[in-house]
Amino acid sequence: MSRTRSHEIFQRALQLMPGGVNSPARAFGGVGGEPLVFERGEGAYLIDVDGNRYIDYIGSWGPMILGHGNEQVRAAIHAAVDQGTSFGAPTERENTLAELIIELVPSVEKVRLVNSGTEATMSAIRVARGFTGRNKIIKFAGNYHGHVDSLLVAAGSAAATLGVPNSPGVTPGTTADTIVLPYNDPAALAAVFEQHGDDLACVIFEPIVGNMGTVIPKPEFLAAIRELCTKHGAVMLMDEVMTGFRVALGGAQQLFGVTPDLTTMGKIVGGGLPIAAYGGRADIMNHVLPAGQVFQAGTLSGNPLATAAGIATLSILKETNPYPRLEQLGERLMTGLAKAAADAGAPYSVARVGSMATLFFGAGTVVDWDTAEKSDTERYADFFWGLIDRGVYFPCSQFEALFISVTHTDEDIDTTIAAARASLQA
Ligand code: PMP
Repeated sequence: MSRTRSHEIFQRALQLMPGGVNSPARAFGGVGGEPLVFERGEGAYLIDVDGNRYIDYIGSWGPMILGHGNEQVRAAIHAAVDQGTSFGAPTERENTLAELIIELVPSVEKVRLVNSGTEATMSAIRVARGFTGRNKIIKFAGNYHGHVDSLLVAAGSAAATLGVPNSPGVTPGTTADTIVLPYNDPAALAAVFEQHGDDLACVIFEPIVGNMGTVIPKPEFLAAIRELCTKHGAVMLMDEVMTGFRVALGGAQQLFGVTPDLTTMGKIVGGGLPIAAYGGRADIMNHVLPAGQVFQAGTLSGNPLATAAGIATLSILKETNPYPRLEQLGERLMTGLAKAAADAGAPYSVARVGSMATLFFGAGTVVDWDTAEKSDTERYADFFWGLIDRGVYFPCSQFEALFISVTHTDEDIDTTIAAARASLQA
């Protein structure tokens, strides 16, 4: 399998962009070696610039739940392009996407469209602070909410993979009001509320973590967040950028029956184009300018192409209900991977919710960052490269979730399991 063209292009990229990339997670820092350079995607497959085909389990880090190049999504984007790519003025498509989000996500009564998950969490935190008139926020170690200054503390995803959970350039002042707690620890949360309850604007959290690998919340942990926020008048801010429209049509909040006050969404909501959203209780969202006084804006927000892709994607999900099928595929894949790891004598654990999952190498169940961090990242790197050589593109870090799309077939899954088995035996 030649990777000559990928190598040449990446060498050039290194001269042009820091680390050769425009976002660190894709730089293969967690597995060593050079990233592949891709030319196109087709359904469940990615094709690199050397013509190699891979079964794709990154799916652009979540958005591509319908697979690459879905015909209806493409047609919707084409139709929008012909009418104009940006107006900086209201369009009817924004209503349609907002209506879909409000219909599908149980807790959302009003919504604002933005351009990235980072913008969504940054804005939602500002609104939570404006609404409560309080400063302090709680986040959990190993959770990632984008590169918002006040949230780049004990951050997951590439920040964890590349060993900079606390980024240089983020001032102590910016993070002074951020309290970091272990995930899945209701007692630690209660203790902080006991001490700072009246100063807390919000608790921001991933309802299923994807950014330290997949970590499943304990029901009592989610219940404690809800109960303590309600009791102390803090905003429960569920970050569904990854889980939204992924683990269920209405996201993790629908799956678990937990109702947050504010929700952030991204990835799938834009069907592969740059769009994200935050929304929630109308009485909170009415604090956003110009309804209220909390400033938040965007030249390209509600962009015609991005809303067209989002509408098409959410409409297909609503009409086709792919979630039972995604559950089957997820179950088939992770059962197969677990068996392959067991047969190879590798200590492992599996975490999965529907089509989002992680095979952790290491002993014991992963429940928080301390347990995730103990994973055998070297074994993961070997596993990853073994898969690449066999035409399977897995997350390039132990601390990232894999995603399955509706275009993956049982055959793709079985090919992947066979590749995993071979890679683990090698
Ligand atoms: N929140 C979560 C839970 C995420 O997974 C991510 C991105 N992986 C973000 C926020 C940030 O989104 P973006 O990369 O679009 O800024």
